[in-house]
Amino acid sequence: QCIGVPREIFAGEKRVATVPAVVEKLVKLGFRVSVAAGAGEAASFGDEAYRAAGAQVLPSSAIWAGADILFKVRPPTAEEIQWMHAGQILVGFVWPAQNPELMAQLAAKGLTVLAMDALPRTLSRAQKMDALTSMAGVSGYRAVVEAAHAFGRFFSGQITAAGKVPPAQVFIAGAGVAGLSAIGTAVSLGAVVRANDTRAEAADQVVSLGGTFVPVDYAEEGGGGGGYAKVMSEGFQAAQRQMYAQQAAWADIIITTALIPGKPAPRLITAEMVQAMKPGSVIVDMAAEQGGNCELTVPGEAVVRHGVTIVGYTDLASRLAAQSSTLYANNLLRLTEELCKAKDGHAVVNMEDDAIRGLTVVYQGSISWPAPALAAA
Ligand code: NAD
Repeated sequence: QCIGVPREIFAGEKRVATVPAVVEKLVKLGFRVSVAAGAGEAASFGDEAYRAAGAQVLPSSAIWAGADILFKVRPPTAEEIQWMHAGQILVGFVWPAQNPELMAQLAAKGLTVLAMDALPRTLSRAQKMDALTSMAGVSGYRAVVEAAHAFGRFFSGQITAAGKVPPAQVFIAGAGVAGLSAIGTAVSLGAVVRANDTRAEAADQVVSLGGTFVPVDYAEEGGGGGGYAKVMSEGFQAAQRQMYAQQAAWADIIITTALIPGKPAPRLITAEMVQAMKPGSVIVDMAAEQGGNCELTVPGEAVVRHGVTIVGYTDLASRLAAQSSTLYANNLLRLTEELCKAKDGHAVVNMEDDAIRGLTVVYQGSISWPAPALAAA
């Protein structure tokens, strides 16, 4: 079978769904690989490198028409769906809950669709395919880089002939995958890092990365199942706001990552807290796309409010395109190995396999999402 990799057409998207090093491995599994001309350019992977790795480089239209399996990053647009035909397998981010219309179109087209965002993440066997984790890791790193770029001082404390420089003080709200990545990155740049999360189990992880965990003075566990957070009680939220106000006054940099599945992002940083921050401080709101953790965030933009730069970029992973494409391509390679255990260049979507069943949101033209819950381990 042929795996086709189109060029992402979403405005500003720099990632690509495979990279030359992975093409070689897909070819070893028995697949032919064709890549659209220029598909990897924005991520620094040129057509020549794909050819050298064993791919054919073709015009976009030939990829959509000729591939048996399509590797994508962004959900397909209506136009891209038109270019597809029944029987093809599409692999990429789909976000079925947010995109019911897209789901209907994909089904009507007679496709089989594997949504990387629907992978059952608690299956340890599925971790190697977990693209949400790899993208969140890249984004958390990049959030710190964006913060450092907007901040007018060093992150590390230094004693120089020209004077003593204190380390930057960083507060991270939400210590899931992205938050932990941001903690590790900020610590490695020399900042003093504090973090908070509503899930008690996050505390040890924060400390293991060199941060200090700041608890909310209110007894309520935030775990809502599957490792994810729940919406907290009014009483907890009031206590949390009080603590966050203190952290905002302390911090030079705040990076917010708090999300609750299927709900708008919790509002954690109020306009008043922003106002109380030191001039020149920076907030990076990684929840911008889900409504923002900060009241003053403008999704997709960096704005200055009360002397504080508030970064609401929604494309952090794409801003580190070579890295995110490489990790994503590896996740897709691991998935392909699962689909092609015989290494004969044929993908088999085995609906009896928990991991594959979970991410198969359309199966041979029928919507198969949400998958039945996994049996308790
Ligand atoms: P996420 O992106 O849904 O949320 C980010 C973080 O925000 C979470 O840690 C959450 O607890 C926190 N949060 C939510 N509301 C908050 C609030 N009001 N105040 C402060 N923090 C708040 O989460 P994620 O990064 O996708 O990770 C979710 C969980 O899944 C974690 O426990 C992670 O370790 C786990 N996980 C497990 C696997 C695996 O087992 N293979 C893979 C990936 C993630």
